[in-house]
Amino acid sequence: MAEDGDPGNQATSGLLGSPGRRAFLRFAAAAGGASLLSACSRTGSAPAASGPAAAATATAAATATATASFSSSGPPSAADWAALARDLSGPLIRPGESGYTTAKELFDPRFDSLHPAGIAYCLNPHDVVTSLAFVRTYGLPVAARCGGHSYAGWSSTSGLIVDVTRMAGVNVSGGTAAVGAGTRLIDFYNGLAAHGRAVPGGSCPTVGISGLTLGGGIGVVARAYGLTCDNVQSLQIVTADGQIRTASASTNSDLFWACRGGGGGNFGVVTSFTFGTHPAGQIVLFFLSWPWSQAARVISGWQSWAPHAPDQLWSNLHLAAAPGGSVPSIQVGGTYLGTVSEAASQLETLYGAVGSDPSSPFLESTSWLHAMLVEAGCASLTVNECHLPTQNAQGQLARASEYAKSDFFTSPLSSHGIGTLLAGVENFQTAGGASGGSGGIAFDALGGAVNRVAPGATAFVHRDALFDAQYTTTWPVGSASAAVARQHAWQQSFWQSMRPYASGQAYQNYIDPSLANWRQAYYGANYARLAQVKAAYDPHRLFSFPQAV
Ligand SMILES: Cc1cc2nc3c(=O)[nH]c(=O)nc-3n(C[C@H](O)[C@H](O)[C@H](O)COP(=O)(O)OP(=O)(O)OC[C@H]3O[C@@H](n4cnc5c(N)ncnc54)[C@H](O)[C@@H]3O)c2cc1C
Repeated sequence: MAEDGDPGNQATSGLLGSPGRRAFLRFAAAAGGASLLSACSRTGSAPAASGPAAAATATAAATATATASFSSSGPPSAADWAALARDLSGPLIRPGESGYTTAKELFDPRFDSLHPAGIAYCLNPHDVVTSLAFVRTYGLPVAARCGGHSYAGWSSTSGLIVDVTRMAGVNVSGGTAAVGAGTRLIDFYNGLAAHGRAVPGGSCPTVGISGLTLGGGIGVVARAYGLTCDNVQSLQIVTADGQIRTASASTNSDLFWACRGGGGGNFGVVTSFTFGTHPAGQIVLFFLSWPWSQAARVISGWQSWAPHAPDQLWSNLHLAAAPGGSVPSIQVGGTYLGTVSEAASQLETLYGAVGSDPSSPFLESTSWLHAMLVEAGCASLTVNECHLPTQNAQGQLARASEYAKSDFFTSPLSSHGIGTLLAGVENFQTAGGASGGSGGIAFDALGGAVNRVAPGATAFVHRDALFDAQYTTTWPVGSASAAVARQHAWQQSFWQSMRPYASGQAYQNYIDPSLANWRQAYYGANYARLAQVKAAYDPHRLFSFPQAV
């Protein structure tokens, strides 16, 4: 099937044939023989949409206590749950009720076996206050949920999910934007672009602004505009004690510090953000590929060029393989804030460093919103279509499964490191993976604005890396579990083989249950301060999961 990311379309069909950033990795696998199944891919099915999102705007700092009428001994009875339902403005969905199967879903079908006792769709901060009072009263586990993309499934729980997706919307005023905590990325970009504004974010359209921002937020203009969290001016959060607080540089500044990179689900439930914005003009997209035989030279050339390019230029490097595929693929994609001719001139430096021109260069200037759709893998879709069917009646994306691990690299790969990298990708072809599966690694260039922030200025400590890397493997729904297990084993082994070359740090937003030293890897020297903030705002650890601060 020729999707938006079909490489065969690139030369002839302009942007409609161009892949998204992550889609690049996936179609590369398809080119190697696998069928396409993307983490953000299209599906033909169109079930009913959920209800309308309620716009949420930041309000002045306030305190509130729950007025809910809960009893307080033993687990909640049916009557207690009914009381919660009455006290909430938004719907509460419980097991056995209509819509429960969909309401409990996260993005990855791997987590469909989780069965929360309830899902509270909060319409406003006071619904969050009420939900937290309920879980405090009965000692229930609780998890905040936004886009549901946690790689570990930690936005679900056996207790109460506090879902923020009905507090969605973007209100632009002057140079700032008030954004509901439940806003999904494609709606975030769309709402901003309507006012000619932009905030840097990630590429997957259904990722939630909350999880992305709280853990950092690496995206396609990060070298110019920084991480998503670097653009937050203030936020509103309901802490474990039920207080609705504003956090900013001048109010609850320790909480503000922690919420910029300290990771979702740790310090409270955010209900809105205020971001500083940037102009959203035309932007150049480029996609380049070389034969696999040139891969070592492409890696060497890219790593000497990408992190040191002008800030306007962001790029990534994808290497991908498929089970039984003929040869893996290697591609560079990116953006440039300027003209096509300026971008072409910058790319000449890359071609010089590689020692050869790419075989199918694609370079085009487009509008900001269309660029975000392309990067999302939605080049030929409308904004409404660039959703899951459960999020928008026109949604054409599908949920998908993926294992992910990550690294940051603070020095270039040696020739031995490049050899290890190539072997790791090539090994996927014989790893015994599922038909239609894919495996690979994607590097994002860092430096620029990301590294001009001091490591301790926000909780996001990774400010000295040249690039990050994400090791991913995906498989079609219904694949044999043994084949999936072999893909997972390949990924773990690939990541292990790169230990001598990586910094030891990992990206907290690519949260990784198999990471033993996660405190150091995600937070480094910032962990001690994060633990202090946690003790101050959540002393009884209401918000808890296996890698909670
Ligand atoms: C397909 C895919 C593509 C991705 N692409 C990128 C990318 O381009 N760039 C990038 O930087 N990252 C990317 N990520 C990683 C992504 O940023 C993280 O998975 C992020 O945590 C997802 O946020 P979410 O709101 O969608 O997920 P959720 O699962 O809803 O939440 C993630 C965590 O945050 C908590 N949380 C959610 N909402 C709130 C809230 N309102 N207040 C407090 N805590 C909350 C949850 O409890 C959970 O612990 C990608 C992930 C996937 C699966």
